Amino acid sequence: MIALGIESTAHTFGVSILNEKKILSNVKKSYVTDKGGIIPAKLAEHHVEVCDEVIKKSLKEAKINLDDIDLISFSQGPGLGHALRIGAIIARTLCLKTNKPIIGVNHCIAHLEIARLLTKAKDPVLLYASGANTQVIAYEGKKYRVFGETLDMGVGNFLDSFARYLELGFPGGPKIEQLAKNGKYIELPYVVKGMDVSFGGILTNIKQKYNKGTKKEDLCYSVQETVFSMLLEVSERAMAHCDKQELVLGGGVACNSRLKEMAESMCKERGAECFIPENQYLVDNAAMIAWLGLVEYKAGIRMKINETEIRPYERTDDIIVEWR
Ligand code: AMP
Ligand code: MG
Repeated sequence: MIALGIESTAHTFGVSILNEKKILSNVKKSYVTDKGGIIPAKLAEHHVEVCDEVIKKSLKEAKINLDDIDLISFSQGPGLGHALRIGAIIARTLCLKTNKPIIGVNHCIAHLEIARLLTKAKDPVLLYASGANTQVIAYEGKKYRVFGETLDMGVGNFLDSFARYLELGFPGGPKIEQLAKNGKYIELPYVVKGMDVSFGGILTNIKQKYNKGTKKEDLCYSVQETVFSMLLEVSERAMAHCDKQELVLGGGVACNSRLKEMAESMCKERGAECFIPENQYLVDNAAMIAWLGLVEYKAGIRMKINETEIRPYERTDDIIVEWR
C-alpha cells in the first residue's frame, strides 16, 4: 500500500510518500525569518506558495504517479489553524481528484509512531520537545497518555522567544545551541511542578539578566542545562512510574546535541535504552504523517471527507489507539 502524507501544523509544509517497507520520499519547505517570529497569515501564504512544488518533488523522488497512491493522510491537529487549513484543503483536493481514502492524524502521536518504526523502541516513553508542544507521552490502556507537559509555552517556542529577544531570528534553537558552546553556567530558576514544567518565568528572568549585562553565551548555555534537566527529570519519572525501559526523543528541539547527550546519560544511569531518530524525523516531517495514516488505515480506521475538519486543539489523549 502506498501512502502520501501531508504535514502542515506550523512552520513546515511537507509531503512524504512511503509504503510498508520503505520511506520513498520526505520533502519539506519551512518558513524561516532573519528577525521576528511566525506571522500566521504569512505562514499560510508560504504554505500555499510552496505546496505545488513540494508535492511534485515528493512524487518525483518517490518515482510514483499520483494515480498510484492508495491513501492520503494529513495532520489534523494540534497546530496553528492558518497552517492546518492549508494541509487539510490540499489533502481533500487530492482525495477528490484521485478518489482515494483520506485520514487525518494526530501530529504528536505521529512523532511517537515514526520513532517506533525507525528505531528498535517497542513501548517507549516519548519526550516530545518541539516548538509549540512539550509533552512526555506513553502508551497505557488504549491511549497515548500525557504524563507531564508544559503549563505555558512549548520549549521550542521558549527558545525561539529568547532568540527573538536577542535578535537572532527564527528558528532560534540552533542559534542558542551555537552560542551555548562558549558559555559558562549561571544559576537560573528551575521550574518543575509535579510532573509538569513551565518556561514563562525563566524567560522573564533571562531577559532581565540579559538587560543587566549578563553575557548571552552564558545565558544560552545555562538555559540549555536548566530546561533540558527539567524535561529529563519529568521523562525519567514517567519511565519509573510506567515501568518502561525505553526513551525516545521527538520534536525539533531534540536535534540539540546537548539534549541528546543528557537523555543518553540519564537512560544509561537507569539501565534503560535511549533511541533518537535522525534529525529529519525529529523535526516536523510528513513521513510520520504518511506512516501513521497507513498504520491507522490498516487497523480499520476510516474517515469520511466531512470528518476531516481541522482540530487545532486536539489532545494526544483524545485519540483511542485502535492499532495497538
Ligand atoms: P518542530 O516544531 O518539532 O519542528 O521543532 C521546531 C523547534 O525546534 C523550533 O522551536 C526550533 O527552534 C527548535 N530547534 C531546532 N533545532 C534545534 C536545536 N539544535 N536546539 C534547540 N532547538 C532546536
Ligand atoms: Mg512537531
